[in-house]
Amino acid sequence: MKYISTRGNSPAKSFTEILLGGLAPDGGLYLPEEYPQVTRAELDTWRKLDYAGLAFAVLSKFATDIPDSDLKAIITNTYTSKVYGNGRADSDSKEITPLRTLEPGLHILELSNGPTLAFKDMAMQLLGNLFEYTLDKQHEELNIVGATSGDTGSAAEYAMRGKRGIRVFMLSPNGKMSAFQRAQMFSLQDPNIFNIAINGMFDDAQDMVKAVSNDHAFKARYMIGTVNSINWARVSAQVVYYFKGYFSATKSNDEQVAFSVPSGNFGNICAGHIARMMGLPIGQLILATNENDVLDEFFRTGAYRPRDTRHTYETSSPSMDISKASNFERFMFDLVGRDGSKVRDFWERVDKGGSFDIRETEYWYALPRFDFASGKSTHQDRLKTIREVWEEYGVMIDTHTADGVKVGLEQRRPNLPLVCLETALPAKFAETIQEALGREPERPASMKGIEKLPQRCVEMDADVAKLKAFIQAHVPQ
Ligand SMILES: *Cc1c(COP(=O)(O)O)cnc(C)c1O
Repeated sequence: MKYISTRGNSPAKSFTEILLGGLAPDGGLYLPEEYPQVTRAELDTWRKLDYAGLAFAVLSKFATDIPDSDLKAIITNTYTSKVYGNGRADSDSKEITPLRTLEPGLHILELSNGPTLAFKDMAMQLLGNLFEYTLDKQHEELNIVGATSGDTGSAAEYAMRGKRGIRVFMLSPNGKMSAFQRAQMFSLQDPNIFNIAINGMFDDAQDMVKAVSNDHAFKARYMIGTVNSINWARVSAQVVYYFKGYFSATKSNDEQVAFSVPSGNFGNICAGHIARMMGLPIGQLILATNENDVLDEFFRTGAYRPRDTRHTYETSSPSMDISKASNFERFMFDLVGRDGSKVRDFWERVDKGGSFDIRETEYWYALPRFDFASGKSTHQDRLKTIREVWEEYGVMIDTHTADGVKVGLEQRRPNLPLVCLETALPAKFAETIQEALGREPERPASMKGIEKLPQRCVEMDADVAKLKAFIQAHVPQ
């Protein structure tokens, strides 16, 4: 299996060749040359597999240049009940991604049983093990530099902690994360994890990371890398739970389901699109946004108008607060019939801060064939949905999952079972849960009292030279 760029101007590469990198040299994103197809006979066999078995069946179609026995070992070590489902207060399931049925035809797929209580662990934990394996083979090291306002940084740190050949330098805005988020990241004592609190805002931290990445000599010398959501291995790992969720919600492969997906950077729902392109009988993919509705606007009107960061709202589903959706280009590549020059035309405008509109083009008429629906959810919708699900089913959901449930119920076609992806646990967003329900969410046992643990973090001014000096001092020459 080779990977090509959505902008059509980069040489084809293998899975491990693109694993550690980010964008393709022409600025595009990597996608398989063609999607592997899953036969009906395979679906029937896959239905019986446990999560690790299914993950191997799916990922061995993508990671064709890793020997099967190695890939199997990596996957088996990743998807174990030791890593997932160990601390949830309300569950004793041994499944990696249990399906919780609220009523017939309405389900929640639990994806947040990993170490940081959000679905990003599902892919990031695999990435940590794939990175370690590949770096070891190539006798190389990697220094990951990232900026976070919460979720992504902690998922990356918990995936990379203790890994040979990898260091993580994670920048966050000093004093801007919740006490819980700080404790989650700063209490890690692993010597390969460096937390750096920047005296500034998230955007300042993000700019420092960009400045380091754009210094090509420094980047090469210090083996600087990132783990952002455009990484292909992350997307491919997310394809697996669409299969698992489908099998759990149906009795046979003749049935169809709808998935609703709380969306930000379009990574999660892109994996659903790919699962469907491979042949999984998904009836509808329902995209839910919060007040930052760039993607909802596209699916409703055909206009893709990324906002600038000053026009990004801070909401109570903060992990969906995006101004542009970095994975959306992957879907557009398929929508335009995989013509890289078309994608180049569109993103020439986007990369300059502009927008595009497909309403007057043939692509607008091609869009319904991909069967997406979309909708938006606001703070009031979120509170109401959290309350209704709690009162009707006794199940507490987090703010992002609530956006998905709200839009999913609104948009699904009648008679199509609805699987709502759970993207985080309510314990991470206690303030909004308190506002909705007048009570505190329960914390998994592993997270009780973490605010009292000793913390490791250095403070730094928003100064790129200081960051570079810090990296130099901590990377052995
Ligand atoms: C990252 C994240 C999302 C958005 O996922 P995308 O892949 O960026 O669309 C939704 N909810 C939570 C809790 C997240 O952490």
